[in-house]
Amino acid sequence: MPLLHSWVASANHGDSPFPLNNLPYGVFSTAHSDPRCGVAIGQMILDLQACEEAGLIDLGAGPVFDVPFWNELMEQGPEAWGDLRNRLLELLGQGSTDQSRLEGFMVAQSDACMHLPFLVSEYTDFYAGRHHATNVGTMFRGAENALPPNWLHLPIGYNGRASSVVVSGSDIRRPWGQLKGPDDTLPRFAPSARFDLELELGAIVGTDSFGPVTLDEADQMIFGYVLLNDWSARDIQAWEYQPLGPFQAKATATSISPWIVMKEALEPCRTETPAREFELLPHLRDSGPMLYDIDLEVSLAPQGQEPRTLACTNYREMYYSSAQQLAHHTTSGCPMRSGDLLGSGTISGPERHQRGSLLELSWGGKEPLELSTGQSRSFLQDGDKLTLSGQAQGDGYVIGFGECSGVVLPALSDPFEGET
Ligand code: MN
Repeated sequence: MPLLHSWVASANHGDSPFPLNNLPYGVFSTAHSDPRCGVAIGQMILDLQACEEAGLIDLGAGPVFDVPFWNELMEQGPEAWGDLRNRLLELLGQGSTDQSRLEGFMVAQSDACMHLPFLVSEYTDFYAGRHHATNVGTMFRGAENALPPNWLHLPIGYNGRASSVVVSGSDIRRPWGQLKGPDDTLPRFAPSARFDLELELGAIVGTDSFGPVTLDEADQMIFGYVLLNDWSARDIQAWEYQPLGPFQAKATATSISPWIVMKEALEPCRTETPAREFELLPHLRDSGPMLYDIDLEVSLAPQGQEPRTLACTNYREMYYSSAQQLAHHTTSGCPMRSGDLLGSGTISGPERHQRGSLLELSWGGKEPLELSTGQSRSFLQDGDKLTLSGQAQGDGYVIGFGECSGVVLPALSDPFEGET
């Protein structure tokens, strides 16, 4: 499918991140309006609360845009998602008979403040990128034992905290934690000195499930995708993770991009998972192309300086797709809820410049990354601004994800000072 034309002129450029083919969903406010649902088109946002109130959008089961989050539409399921998309294509397409009314419901993205686009009901993060798992495993256990024995048979994950999820632009406070370095005889309580990013994609579960689901059912449950930065304190993680996995190391914050890119917009970019070393068990066996070809980038801007690209990678490097992670998540009978967020796991490629974390880029701090004159990084420093970006290439258009950024603030003074 080629570029679809809109009466919103800025959406018709081949390099616009938000052409009519995309239509990502977010929640925005302006100096004159409270937070509300909107859809990005070119450099503008269409106010969907205003459209619904004016009768231009009616999905038949009562209002869904009377609240500043997307969960009410998500709960209605794939048929309603398709109805809304078709209606938006009609309203925003070239030749729309409603153009003059809609022009009054448009806001420039430059005048908008973005908010979390949905209420996050639960959050699970996976470890499903083979290059990342191999790199990390090699550093911690040696090349012979890099991948745990289960890794090629199931997507490993841990239950994270929904409360930690924040929207792009939120500041990230360097955490304190219990640390024990190789030279310490006893653990100590200190600010993390190995604070890191993880470049990931987040899948948003749109509909509930109450028992095991098939891979195809899992794929249908997914509402859309966002960029996700799983901020990670490596020194806290190294001491706490055995044997139950990440806990406080991952609980400080998880940033997501403000625009949810719908699964339907990504359909033309579907691609195969990598070749399998072992055939997967039936509940995980690929039923078709399960990944997407999405270019991803992360940049770092030291305080007061220009950003510098840290890594470029692609979502097709994943070993397990979000649908496979979701299907696996339900095998125990674990109920999934509308608003569940699934982190893909860090997305690294085979080359050094394709690594999605500083842990890998600096090889555990042994090979600091040169940024610019006088600047190098093993891990994040206070004042660093991290920005993830992503886009998929269509036939003469792009599907942009926008950005997911956050600035690292210095740790607070000792929260337990004076305690004995
Ligand atoms: Mn992660």
